Amino acid sequence: MPDAASARQHVHSPIDHREIGSYPVATHTDVDAAVHAARTGLADPRWAALSGAERADHLERFADEIEKIGAERAGLTTAQNGMPIAVAQSAEGDGPVGLLRYYAALARATEPEQRRPRLDGKGVTVVRREPVGVVTMIVPWNFPQVLTAFKLAPALAAGCTVVLKPAPETTLDAFLLAGAAERAGLPPGVLNVITGGADIGEHLVTHPGIDKVAFTGSTAAGRAIGRTCGELLRPVTLELGGKSAAIVLDDADAVEVASGLATASLLNNGQTCYLSTRVLVPQHRHDEIFDALADLVSSLTVGDPFDVGIHVGPVVSRRQRDRIRGYIDTAVADGLPGVGADRALPDHGWFVAPSVFGRVDNTSELAREEIFGPVLAVIPYHGLDHAIALANDSEYGLGGTVWTRDEQAGLEVARRVQTGSIGVNFFDLDVGAPFGGVKASGLGRELGPEGLDA
Ligand code: NAD
Repeated sequence: MPDAASARQHVHSPIDHREIGSYPVATHTDVDAAVHAARTGLADPRWAALSGAERADHLERFADEIEKIGAERAGLTTAQNGMPIAVAQSAEGDGPVGLLRYYAALARATEPEQRRPRLDGKGVTVVRREPVGVVTMIVPWNFPQVLTAFKLAPALAAGCTVVLKPAPETTLDAFLLAGAAERAGLPPGVLNVITGGADIGEHLVTHPGIDKVAFTGSTAAGRAIGRTCGELLRPVTLELGGKSAAIVLDDADAVEVASGLATASLLNNGQTCYLSTRVLVPQHRHDEIFDALADLVSSLTVGDPFDVGIHVGPVVSRRQRDRIRGYIDTAVADGLPGVGADRALPDHGWFVAPSVFGRVDNTSELAREEIFGPVLAVIPYHGLDHAIALANDSEYGLGGTVWTRDEQAGLEVARRVQTGSIGVNFFDLDVGAPFGGVKASGLGRELGPEGLDA
């Protein structure tokens, strides 16, 4: 909580609870000043008068600056949220650099105007691409640098200006981005960072100086923001929660599936929105696949995420640790077959044992709610249609995977799943393709050329 005397938020390590930094918490007056700066920046000829190619130059200089501090940005993410350092180096360190360069290339290649011959033959219609204006970006703590870049890179490429609000848990790394933007020479007012929690976020969402809201976070907060934006008729993108399915087909090799699910279902200590955490398996192969997953979770090392030999670090906070443990305790109390729950953990830090439970019913809490931790539910199915019905019987639709030796069969199954993105024998985001959810997983798309359109 903010310290009332100095209005500073102290940030504590999820690994050993020591203080790793602090930052001033913004007031509503600070938000007003940031929005004003962004509006002024939007109209400033040093930004507004630039061509796509000139904005691309800015994005590339910005990419060069953040590349120089990639290790520092990755390390600060790990220090704040417990992400294994190897994941942080690639997703948080390298990810934003690649995104800025990708959108720089798109900014160069995109014509600001199209002259379309009118269908009635009476001359041409000029179709112009305009920046939407001042965009507020509200991001969560699980991948703070790269999720910011999902929004920031296309917004800058389009000529927007930005007010960024990172999550309270991962704010320190946002200052590194801001410093790099200054060194890269982004014109004043183009990128503004505001600190604080939900209250500051709500003030930003309703602020009359904001033209668009780009939000990533929980479905609950996304619904509240969506309601407000509906009332204001304010454009909004919502990237929300998930509870995706891994559909294991009859021909899949159990050991290969378990090895693939180490990333596709457990990346970043299970704190990733698109993970395939419901593992749907043919009824007659349940025990074999459950055993392979039990071997997997038992083999994962748990400890200091700065140690490259560690697979699973702590989760971000005591609150998250307690939530996840609550799901594990309920599954144990319900008598589900499970592995992981009784594992010895480091005696400090917000650690949770990677766990798997078998014979889970798709109507149970364990199968329906986003746990956001390293907990897998194995759900038996009888027949392909049943597997697809179970996959689609979810409030969410964000990611997912199909596991099979027959790629074509996998694609056919993938096409029947109601979700934003789905992988066959693998899942990773593709910066060049649209990403986003259906149902309660969100509205709108990020990444790819679609991200620039948005
Ligand atoms: P959260 O919704 O609690 O917070 C996210 C951000 O929104 C934070 O910056 C927070 O301060 C702010 N916020 C919270 N309530 C707000 C409100 N009413 N108005 C304005 N701002 C508000 O989420 P979290 O716990 O930080 O993140 C985890 C969630 O994010 C999970 O549900 C996860 O699935 C989701 N997520 C989704 C994606 C995606 O791309 N779909 C990616 C990563 C995380």
